[in-house]
Amino acid sequence: MDVHKVRLEENDAISSIIKDQEEFRDSIATVDEKGKRVWIYPKKPSGLYHKWRIAVTVLLLSILFAGPFLKINGQPFLLLNIFERKFVILGQAFWPQDFFLLAIVLITFFVFVILFTVVFGRVWCGWMCPQTLFMEMVFRKIEYWIEGDSGAQRRLNKQPWDATKIFKKTSKHIIFLLISILIAHTVMAYLIGVDNTADIVSRPPSENLAGFLGLVGFTGIFYFVYAKFREQACIAVCPYGRLQGVLLTKESLVVAYDWLRGEPRGHIKKESPAKVEHGDCIDCKLCVHVCPTGIDIRNGTQLECVNCTACIDACDDVMVKIGRPKGLIRYASYNSIKDGILQIVNGRVIGYSVVLLVLLSVLSFALITRSDVEATMLKVPGTLYQREPGFITNLYNVEFVNKTFGELTLEMKVESPPTAQLKKVDSNAIIIPAEGFVKGVYFIRIPDKDITNARTVVVLGVYHNNKKIETVKVKFIGPVVKASDAKRN
Ligand code: SF4
Ligand code: SF4
Repeated sequence: MDVHKVRLEENDAISSIIKDQEEFRDSIATVDEKGKRVWIYPKKPSGLYHKWRIAVTVLLLSILFAGPFLKINGQPFLLLNIFERKFVILGQAFWPQDFFLLAIVLITFFVFVILFTVVFGRVWCGWMCPQTLFMEMVFRKIEYWIEGDSGAQRRLNKQPWDATKIFKKTSKHIIFLLISILIAHTVMAYLIGVDNTADIVSRPPSENLAGFLGLVGFTGIFYFVYAKFREQACIAVCPYGRLQGVLLTKESLVVAYDWLRGEPRGHIKKESPAKVEHGDCIDCKLCVHVCPTGIDIRNGTQLECVNCTACIDACDDVMVKIGRPKGLIRYASYNSIKDGILQIVNGRVIGYSVVLLVLLSVLSFALITRSDVEATMLKVPGTLYQREPGFITNLYNVEFVNKTFGELTLEMKVESPPTAQLKKVDSNAIIIPAEGFVKGVYFIRIPDKDITNARTVVVLGVYHNNKKIETVKVKFIGPVVKASDAKRN
């Protein structure tokens, strides 16, 4: 037989096996062939991991709801006022002038997320993401409480609209709406502060229509996401979920099925339950039935998996019942299952860690040296320099921004060159209100005999209570003076 032909046939056979095995990646469990939504009815999860997730959820949601009320030195713990471009993080105010600092914070955060994902996979999604916490640990639990487990929910949705169904559906959606209102108000409090949110709530809508519509909009979004959109937010919208394909490595810790232990699958025969002629997976499909995104983790790591651990608990329960060791589905890396060795630290992890350390050092330095006052000094547009008897003068616009929560009285002094003089056009003291700014116009005068350059750098110090808090450097424009002329002067 022609060897070439045999090879081609072998290749075709292998391609067809791979195609069959990977076919599940061509579609998502929540959309059918016609593109219609397939509603997921996950079985109620229970088990050790679920108990831990309840504890973590209680802690994190308590922090989330208490956050707007928490204060550090009288300032919010976290305020992200994008409307007024004012941000308070851990009681420290950040202004648009701190843009570079926020940029470093964001880059550091992204590198941290990448590093965290490379090592721990989607631990964030399953344990900390507000979407998963609210969906699986709050809204879904209310649904189980009112409508029962997955089977009862299916039956309720199919049955005609009788009194029971109307009562259950109405009460569920009223509770969903109330929780959505609570979340909307919390988000608003993080954006504009708890006092302003209380102000919107306490006044008639007509007196603050924008704020009222904002709250209605947020409520509508949260209600829609948790009542209807659900797992689609993770599967189709979340950019972090989409990034998993490039972030995860074969060393990343993810919720994984141990195919070496589990395969080949088979059912335990009732007549001889002790006799197992196959792998540990008895193909009970409980891991699929509990999955809130409707996937089969036995197919391998998939973008839809939010690492909620429900399948771990379900499978552990099965393993206990059939007398096999727990952990057929567990936190493991692909390589740790294949080779039996868990190796978290690799070149990629070291590389990201080094970048993260450098960024953290830069950020710490920037935060430590960050000034309470931002002074911007620019030459008055359209002016060059003026001559006075024995002096050259430049005119400047100065803006002082107070980044603190208290009023500041400032003083500006020349540091160099020593003969330069600074004069404010008006003689008012520089008093900047808390979180505010003031503008002023200043003259700088330098004796013309000291000008040896067309552009002299003048260094000024900004003082508060005789303590220097900021240094400003400006260019002073003067005539080009020949050395011989300077000597004669
Ligand atoms: S729950 Fe465990 S035993 Fe049952 S199908 Fe899933 S992996 Fe197999
Ligand atoms: S596969 Fe398991 S861990 Fe992943 S989403 Fe489904 S139940 Fe959760």
